[in-house]
Amino acid sequence: MEFYDVHTHQIFLEDNDDPYHSCIFDVYPLEFEVAKDSYHRHAFSCGIHPWYSEDSDTQMAYLNEIASNIRIVAIGETGLDKLKGPSFDIQIPVFKKHIELSEKLGKPVIIHCVKAWEELIQIRKETDPTQPWIIHGYRGKPELTKRLLHEGFLFSIGDQINVASMQLIPIDALFCETDEDEMTIREIYLQTSQAINMDIEEFAAKIAANVRRVFPSVKAPKPYFSKELEEEI
Ligand SMILES: [Zn+2]
Repeated sequence: MEFYDVHTHQIFLEDNDDPYHSCIFDVYPLEFEVAKDSYHRHAFSCGIHPWYSEDSDTQMAYLNEIASNIRIVAIGETGLDKLKGPSFDIQIPVFKKHIELSEKLGKPVIIHCVKAWEELIQIRKETDPTQPWIIHGYRGKPELTKRLLHEGFLFSIGDQINVASMQLIPIDALFCETDEDEMTIREIYLQTSQAINMDIEEFAAKIAANVRRVFPSVKAPKPYFSKELEEEI
């Protein structure tokens, strides 16, 4: 099995890095230079979190400079948050700059969305993107899930899971992530595969195929054997 963590902020150092998974590390534009030399195996997403979108011109200018780097495989996390961060007068234009960059460079967007689904759907309709938009840490209810599927969103699943929604999402629209969670990526794969009653090996193969399709330059990790997984979890 190959394990991919498409959205994480958790820092592994070279000597405690687990070779059995490949990550897309989320970094701020100004962190990228140092991060890219510290994590040779992993890929990056780079953007400005909506919480910090106020006074983000310097970060944005720098993002524009570095985003074409081959190690940056996605733009974000970016998006909208109704509970935290500046007003939408600030968040929305910053989010739209990320969308423009994603379209210009042909790189997918990693989306953070809290209680702003109408606005998110509206912006997607307005901008009509060609690139995949992946909602990270997704745990929405079935009604919302149906709407988002209809609009063409993809989903990354972490430790919190809405099982009823999981039954609705086609496997080719799914990814897994650890974000800032305590569960390991292998525990998250196991929990997610169980939620859709799929054998973990089959599930991992499907997620790996999604990663190769959406993030073709992410390097494969060392394969992991299920016997070890049973012992570990
Ligand atoms: Zn995150």
